[in-house]
Amino acid sequence: MQRSFIIAVDGPGGVGKSTVSKKIARKLGGLYVDTGAMYRAFGLAMRDAGVNPDDDDALTEFCSNLDIIYRADENGIFINGLDYSEKIRTEEAGGLASKAAAKSIVRRTLVAYQRTFGNDGIIVVMEGRDIGTVVYPEADIKFFLDADAEVRALRRLKEGRDGLGVKDMKKALAARDRQDSTRKDSPLTRGDDAIYIDSTNCDIDEVITLFMTHIKKRLPRERTAPLD
Ligand code: C5P
Repeated sequence: MQRSFIIAVDGPGGVGKSTVSKKIARKLGGLYVDTGAMYRAFGLAMRDAGVNPDDDDALTEFCSNLDIIYRADENGIFINGLDYSEKIRTEEAGGLASKAAAKSIVRRTLVAYQRTFGNDGIIVVMEGRDIGTVVYPEADIKFFLDADAEVRALRRLKEGRDGLGVKDMKKALAARDRQDSTRKDSPLTRGDDAIYIDSTNCDIDEVITLFMTHIKKRLPRERTAPLD
């Protein structure tokens, strides 16, 4: 068992964490882990199973029998044998995820699974809301990626999966941000030790260059081979 080199990427919805994290992982020959996909799939699976997130007993029972598999290579997410990989990418799934994610039992269950990625001696780029603060407080490098609400709504709309207008998308993202930042357990916060990057006026390549500049300073020499 060898500790992985962990790069934690946190930030609000629609900020571009997935795009950036995926590209960084590819550049480094590392593993990309999308924890939002796990919460989204959980939210849908919970609904499909008829579990009310406010029913503590039902939720605990559902969590104790949860079989979750994340396939990093194909961005696949499976819960209790069902494939949620395609279904998770709507704002509706985001809303269900945010509701489920406010429950401590759900967080404990998914965080335990997320921590299993840290012992393979590889480079892991993990993105979410609490990676640097809760999942891997000992991460080797932590980023908090941010952008104005308007810009984030436009970026999400570009993905073209929701059929929402910019106003409704902005509203949906704001509701999710509020829920994520005000929940009691592991709220979305910018940790003091995270590198803050505001991408409001940057394109994706500029953001990646910024990330790589910071990462290169921290990567141990033996890990630098895949860098270009
Ligand atoms: O990042 P993404 O938009 O896919 O996340 C969906 C939702 O899952 C978030 O709004 C948040 O409620 C929850 N989430 C979380 N902690 C994480 C990742 C996602 O609470 N580490």
